[in-house]
Amino acid sequence: MVRELSHYIDGQRVDGTSGRFSDVYDPCTGEVQSKLPLASADEVRNAISNAEKGQLEWAAMNPQRRARILLKFVDLVNENMDELATLLSSEHGKTFLDSKGDIQRGIEVVEFSAGAPHLLKGEFSDSAGQGIDVHSLRQPLGVVAGITPFNFPAMIPLWKSGPALAAGNAFILKPSERDPSVPLRLAELFTEAGMPNGVFNVINGDKEAVDTLLEDRRVKAIGFVGSTPIAQYIYATAAAHGKRAQCFGGAKNHMVIMPDADLDMAADALIGSGYGSAGERCMAISVAVPVGQETADQLVAKLGERIKDLKVGPSMAKDSDFGPVVAASAKERIERYIQAGVDAGATLVTDGRGVTVDGYEGGFWVGPTLFDNVTKDMSIYKDEIFGPVLSVLRAADYEEALRLCSEHEFGNGVAIFTRDGDSARDFASRVEVGMVGVNVPIPVPIAYYTFGGWKASGFGDLNQHGADAFRFYTKTKTVTTRWPSGIRQGASFVMPAGS
Ligand code: NAD
Repeated sequence: MVRELSHYIDGQRVDGTSGRFSDVYDPCTGEVQSKLPLASADEVRNAISNAEKGQLEWAAMNPQRRARILLKFVDLVNENMDELATLLSSEHGKTFLDSKGDIQRGIEVVEFSAGAPHLLKGEFSDSAGQGIDVHSLRQPLGVVAGITPFNFPAMIPLWKSGPALAAGNAFILKPSERDPSVPLRLAELFTEAGMPNGVFNVINGDKEAVDTLLEDRRVKAIGFVGSTPIAQYIYATAAAHGKRAQCFGGAKNHMVIMPDADLDMAADALIGSGYGSAGERCMAISVAVPVGQETADQLVAKLGERIKDLKVGPSMAKDSDFGPVVAASAKERIERYIQAGVDAGATLVTDGRGVTVDGYEGGFWVGPTLFDNVTKDMSIYKDEIFGPVLSVLRAADYEEALRLCSEHEFGNGVAIFTRDGDSARDFASRVEVGMVGVNVPIPVPIAYYTFGGWKASGFGDLNQHGADAFRFYTKTKTVTTRWPSGIRQGASFVMPAGS
């Protein structure tokens, strides 16, 4: 029985009226499990009108009361964790434990955002001029929107909405059409936590919904996460319509393995970060760069041994290391890249094509794939594959390894494995990538730091979460005050210069 999903507007689930739908799959079976309504421009505009009303009430509430509602929401998410993680796995395909991690990393940002009373404090300068005080305020923008990808259907919507809501904005989420059910449940939990109607809304849809959000002048800011071509489109279109935008795109994350690294630790780290969540993480490592032939030979041998023990299987099975990829089209794309790597002359150490799982023959399975002797000109190196495919590109020395990381089009995350503090420090300082790990393969910053890639991985000047998020979701107003007891010297015709 195929369920029909909905939108979430003005504090309740609302059926779609456009007559257009997309299919939501169970990636483990390959079967359609629900139909998702795709909003028309009018439905989006209606959600914006509701959000405008809700925002006034929400912004009038003091930040501490807003924070209490957010903390209540965190409690409710924890109480419903198993149900949410099961729902998440059923549409995304990642394992149950990994789904819990997805939710956990999301609510950590909501917890951080509960510090809004502190984070929203302005500045004050006493006697900036004679009898003059200056202070600044951080005010909410109004209605803001988030457009989010399939790969973290809980975490990324919460990274966007947590700070935006805490700052007093109303939020319209346009989640991925592949796994929309967790965002809809989160919306219900926000309402249950006491959030006024219209403050957190979910509008499901495709380009029509996104373009309406981009073009409507009542939406003041767009937070986007997804692939680079769409990130660039959203950034340019939002700017053309006078909105601020922060748009995070694709990735090709490298891990440099120095000859002095603990190679077992590095191999374990590569297995987890290359194949975890079927490689569908923007911080997944997809390129290993061992320095020196001996390091490379040993590393590839260790990876090969470990890959033999990996288990690809259903999301809810306790012994699955990773589940299926999200869609049949994703599986086809990944398999095309594997063939392109073979055709280009890379050494296919392990081939993940043709994997089947008993009882789940229709699932979108791709097994762990390892390429050695990959070169810079190959498409498997240049492009983001977004699947369980790890490429080994051998570097002759440290400088070559550093150059590879810095010169790649993408600059999201990077890691170095070494025991040498000098190399690690030099690497962290010189590499042209936004997030760096030293013996940490997936250096996703904790909630009170900021997350953002460089180059083709991020467009905009402020990062996600941490203090940057509060700058992004507020506008600064600066007030200069003089009271009548201040100096009276008649009209002034020149700009005051200095104090
Ligand atoms: P995607 O770009 O296909 O979709 C992202 C969002 O944009 C979805 O909500 C989708 O409905 C919408 N969208 C898609 N095409 C559109 C169009 N033509 N016009 C308007 N809106 C459109 O990305 P995805 O496949 O859902 O997610 C995977 C990508 O996200 C990968 O490239 C991954 O690296 C990236 N990602 C980046 C980060 C980061 O922080 N840099 C984090 C997670 C994922």
